Amino acid sequence: AKAAGRDTARYFSVETDQRISARQAMEAQLRQAVANGEFTLAFQPRLCAHTSRLLGAEALLRWDNPVLGAVPPAEFIGLAEETGLIQAIGAWVLQRACQQWRAMTEIEPALDGLHLSVNLSVAQLADTLLVPQVQSALTRAGLPPACLELELTESHLMDNPEQAQQQLAALKALGVLVSIDDFGTGYSSFAYLKRFDLDKLKIDQSFVRGMLDDEAARAIVQAIIGLGHTLHLSVVAEGVETLAAAHALAALGCDELQGYGFGRPMAQDDFLRWVQGWSA
Ligand code: C2E
Ligand code: CA
Ligand code: CA
Ligand code: CA
Repeated sequence: AKAAGRDTARYFSVETDQRISARQAMEAQLRQAVANGEFTLAFQPRLCAHTSRLLGAEALLRWDNPVLGAVPPAEFIGLAEETGLIQAIGAWVLQRACQQWRAMTEIEPALDGLHLSVNLSVAQLADTLLVPQVQSALTRAGLPPACLELELTESHLMDNPEQAQQQLAALKALGVLVSIDDFGTGYSSFAYLKRFDLDKLKIDQSFVRGMLDDEAARAIVQAIIGLGHTLHLSVVAEGVETLAAAHALAALGCDELQGYGFGRPMAQDDFLRWVQGWSA
């Protein structure tokens, strides 16, 4: 029993060591990633729930590293936040997203005036450079502010509500739109929801995916749509994987749909082909 105990302890420490060195390896690669041009953006379409018309897209970060391969954002955004690398990465995303959306609009007139969503991290919301960064990304790209939508999560806003409110006011003054991402999973109080100057709520995918066979998830989706509309916000559902889900969401009054059922996040060329097929 004693030997087994020692083995178990050794096993765990080996595993922990491996995890730590994997993390260090990732951090080392992440430090070089912007300079080495390893990031790209993928674009996922968003549609009107009632007419199926294309309304815009969400820009999602992709990291392709020569050593680690393709690393999903869920595996590196947290590390980027802890190490402070997110500031540089986030600034790159804003700049690149605006530039690419403007360029795509020139290639594909159907995109003219449509919205591009960009995800912000909590560190960016806390950064006084955010507003000038957004402004400069728009100006350099020649993109109208009304075409840019910034996505924040509830926990980002509730982390420091006073500061969030100030930053939101400054962002709104630029003319961009602001939406709350993953709505329903955080802890925003209704009082704050009213106080923040928001444009949209995005219902978290877990409720959307569960709503067809789970009565409670369906009730939550319905309640979020009702709350959003009461506050004069547009409501977006993401994680829409089936036609049945799309129909159910439209019947509940949801405004916009995003999900694998319509289109996955795609690199620029694939996205442009998708748009041509969709509008044809
Ligand atoms: P998110 O902002 O909630 O983005 C939606 C995620 O759901 C994306 O994953 C997207 O590919 C996925 N998705 C969309 N439709 C469906 C569907 O129908 N079914 C399923 N199963 N999944 C769907 P992705 O690209 O892996 O991004 C994960 C998260 O990483 C994002 O969640 C966001 O929080 C973060 N992220 C991505 N890009 C950025 C970025 O540029 N900056 C920051 N700060 N965070 C980012
Ligand atoms: Ca998002
Ligand atoms: Ca989300
Ligand atoms: Ca998320």
